[in-house]
Amino acid sequence: MGHDRVVEVLQRSLRSGKTAHAYIFEGPCGCGRRKTALALIQALFCHAVSDDACGVCASCRKVAGGNHGDIHIVEPLPDKRDINIAQLRDVQRALAMRPYEAPRSACIVEPADRMNNNSANSFLKTLEEPPGNAIIILITENADMLLPTIRSRCQLVRFAPLSPEHIGLLLERNGMDAENAALLAPLADGSMQRALELDNDALALRREQLVKHLSTLSLDRIVTVFDAAEELSGNRDETLDTIDMLLSFSRDMLHLAAGCGDVINTTIQPLLEGLVIRLKLQGVLQLADDILETRRSVQRNANAKLALDHLFIRIAGALAS
Ligand SMILES: [Zn+2]
Repeated sequence: MGHDRVVEVLQRSLRSGKTAHAYIFEGPCGCGRRKTALALIQALFCHAVSDDACGVCASCRKVAGGNHGDIHIVEPLPDKRDINIAQLRDVQRALAMRPYEAPRSACIVEPADRMNNNSANSFLKTLEEPPGNAIIILITENADMLLPTIRSRCQLVRFAPLSPEHIGLLLERNGMDAENAALLAPLADGSMQRALELDNDALALRREQLVKHLSTLSLDRIVTVFDAAEELSGNRDETLDTIDMLLSFSRDMLHLAAGCGDVINTTIQPLLEGLVIRLKLQGVLQLADDILETRRSVQRNANAKLALDHLFIRIAGALAS
């Protein structure tokens, strides 16, 4: 499913006995990060083999059954947004004690970006030098959301998102018709879980609005910019959907500008071709950068309407020049 490379890297470090003491597993939800973390711990704990998990020894079975006493999972408490400092103090105390039966303790923090600054800071020393050679795995969708001091203490392992083509195929196999699968797949951020959560009708409407606004945006009539931002921004997730559609359009525009016909959004290909002619390759590259930057700021909780105002002004400006 796209992370053979990750498994290979981890296996190589297991074989050479050079696993890191702290990892960040970065990738979209539903792409197998926690499963891989547990497989790594299982291999480190296994009684029978030293560089893999046998799957049948008592230790392997406990890890697989989710009841190994030396694995500590830290996640937000039910109905709490953040991982609080008391939870991290508890786990640090647990890690400082001798493991019950495993050669070392293990700790998974998910989602690690839910540690607020205070709790993250309280965890730094443990990350730098985990007591008793413990292994710590931080799971996140985006390592950039973690403090730089946290990131610098961990080895980053990136899980590739599933490709839109792959997700489209899986959606069709789930019984979705090809056109809807093609609309949803690019918006799923590489996560099958997210693809299944997306609301199809609302998205189709939003896409229609986006296409309409893209064909009327003009700096000469600034109201077209603000109308677009007004109509297309919503809460954070809705705004991110809009931005992801734009990203998918810009991906197609890059392909068109490069002269290859591999287009996902075929129903609006004439519009995209028109935009490519006006923006030229340089403009299309800049557009993709601008969209990504807007995405990052919305992810960091910037005001959605303002962020889209800025983005559409830049697009309108690029189209005017
Ligand atoms: Zn085993």
